[in-house]
Amino acid sequence: SANPPRTDYAFKVLVVGDPRVGKTSIINRYVHGSFDIHYKLTLGVDFALKVIHRPSSIIRLQLRDIAGQEKAGTMTRVYYRDANAAVVVFDVTRNITLQSVKIWKQDIDSKLSLPDGRRIPAVLLANKCDLDADPAVTEQVLQDLVTEDQFIGWFLTSAKDDKNVAEAFNFLIDRAISDY
Ligand code: GDP
Ligand code: MG
Repeated sequence: SANPPRTDYAFKVLVVGDPRVGKTSIINRYVHGSFDIHYKLTLGVDFALKVIHRPSSIIRLQLRDIAGQEKAGTMTRVYYRDANAAVVVFDVTRNITLQSVKIWKQDIDSKLSLPDGRRIPAVLLANKCDLDADPAVTEQVLQDLVTEDQFIGWFLTSAKDDKNVAEAFNFLIDRAISDY
């Protein structure tokens, strides 16, 4: 029988969003399967690694986390350099963090593109869905944002309850592979 050849990928994934939206928690949930209610501020850029084994491929992910400098629109090109995909996170309990999403996304697209000039694939994560959402955060608002700012999709996530975190990353990885 003819098995398809194995393929190896190495992807660098940006994880951005306003302070305290849950970026580090989402990475910890995805990479370590854990959640910590205590807020730790690690200044600078952190890298988390995860290797995914699929039937016909191995995917090495480098997740790039930031702390202490996460102000929308102010990241340097150096931070974005060589990224293959992005995760933009906001906190459903704070509409102000949703307001920043557009700025984060446009900042990425203005400073970075795939080798052929297309946007890098990006997903929008509406995090802390285990808590009561701000009434201004509606599905329609999210859907419009995804369309206007060309995210590949959005997910309601909870790093705390392990909801949709792996699903969102898998969706992003699938697109990164097809864009490769
Ligand atoms: P970051 O600054 O974006 O990296 O945010 P953190 O990951 O440090 O999270 C900020 C705070 O929100 C911490 O106290 C986390 O425990 C909490 N948090 C993160 N994700 C969730 C979630 O899905 N649900 C709830 N209830 N709290 C969360
Ligand atoms: Mg953090």
